[in-house]
Amino acid sequence: MAIITSDPKVYTIRDYKSPVHNTWCAGCGDFGILNAIQLGLAELQLPPHQVAVFSGIGCSGKAPHYINAFGIHTLHGRVLPTATGGKLANPEMTVIAVGGDGDGYGIGAGYFVNAGRRNVDLTYLVFDNEVYGLTKGQAAPTMQKGLRAKGMPEPAIQDNINPLALAIASGYTFVARGYALQPKGLATLIAEAVSHRGTAFIDILQTCPYYNDLHTKEWYSEVFDHEPRLYQLDDTDYDGVVRDPTNLDEIVAKKVQAMTKSYEWGERIPLGVLYKVDMATYEDQLATGRPTTNGATGEPNLWNRDLSSLLNALR
Ligand code: SF4
Repeated sequence: MAIITSDPKVYTIRDYKSPVHNTWCAGCGDFGILNAIQLGLAELQLPPHQVAVFSGIGCSGKAPHYINAFGIHTLHGRVLPTATGGKLANPEMTVIAVGGDGDGYGIGAGYFVNAGRRNVDLTYLVFDNEVYGLTKGQAAPTMQKGLRAKGMPEPAIQDNINPLALAIASGYTFVARGYALQPKGLATLIAEAVSHRGTAFIDILQTCPYYNDLHTKEWYSEVFDHEPRLYQLDDTDYDGVVRDPTNLDEIVAKKVQAMTKSYEWGERIPLGVLYKVDMATYEDQLATGRPTTNGATGEPNLWNRDLSSLLNALR
């Protein structure tokens, strides 16, 4: 869905490229994701000055340097609270948070869960390569127990997390998986996520040719019984969209279905939207009043009062 603005200029992918020299390794999957973000912004025709890209620390943390938009390179694991503050301070801005799986699911795990509960209108893209690439390939939280990539002295001895299942359980209202080396399809998925009102999350499978010699471009491209390992949910009869957000039974059924789908990994790996629901955002609820358990609007929030009544309320 295109976002209509009053700006008559037609934006192309070039408008979102910055002149900053790129220091990612040759062949890194990050290039595909960067390309997809820029293509997605062009698809939405968003003026660069209305976009803010926040990042954490890691190879992916450099992404805002390469995008012509507002860019904020934050602290390790802290991208989501910083992006949340940015969106609440300037709700007119399109906010995109980016980071690696180590950044988001390791040090940032608490923020990851609580961002899902809030449903602020922003998009979170995780560059998931299963390793800490910037610090020479240690196992990140998505590295499967028992696997050993070439930067690891021993196989991983901890269980890996399932980011999609964690996102669904945490309350994210748009949960999807993409693949870095299919930038056109990923761009469309990113555009859909950015257009979603609420917190949209995409876990993006990303190749790291320097430190992940297990899940490589060749591995992701393998075919079994004439079926590709990576397949699009759109090509099946899978439907993860909640039609009636007031129907708790439907929400639970779609969440269970999406969680089950998120555990499909191996010879078949699904890509696309696993779960989607339209719910009131954090900003909506601040503006309209305290939500109640029965869905009715309660008293106006403190934030929604003028300054004198706010001061009176706090006396
Ligand atoms: Fe990309 Fe891996 Fe190099 Fe980092 S270390 S830039 S993730 S290839």
